[in-house]
Amino acid sequence: MAQTALDKAKAHFSSEAKKGLEAMGLLLGEVNSFNGKEYSFIADYITSKNDATSVTVRFSENAFSNLAAEINSVKPNLVVGWAHSHPNYGCFLSSTDVSTQKKYFSQGYNVALVIDPVRGEKKFFKLNANGYQEVGFAIVRKC
Ligand SMILES: [Zn+2]
Repeated sequence: MAQTALDKAKAHFSSEAKKGLEAMGLLLGEVNSFNGKEYSFIADYITSKNDATSVTVRFSENAFSNLAAEINSVKPNLVVGWAHSHPNYGCFLSSTDVSTQKKYFSQGYNVALVIDPVRGEKKFFKLNANGYQEVGFAIVRKC
């Protein structure tokens, strides 16, 4: 994941956490391979209007046209996954999060990034046969 993308997500999540709200957005990038192993590269974080509470978040109904326009205007623009915050309750996938992942992000390269902006934690997850698992990541300063 590019440092710039992570910084964008963290800034969004921190400002919403100060209002007591969760926040979310999409992770854009591409699928690459290294030594025959596939990995997802996240180049950007984009978001649009959120409907949020302290423990839930989703995109507003009118958010999708803005998101689609933004996705079409950048490269690389594969939707690699999504990111959302768990302000002060730690990084994991709730049953709702697992349903979201299964419904919209079920490709092998799809990830879910959960950040707790209050505790300063972040974790990446992927679906597996038993539900989900945490996966490793690296933050890239320049690519
Ligand atoms: Zn969640």
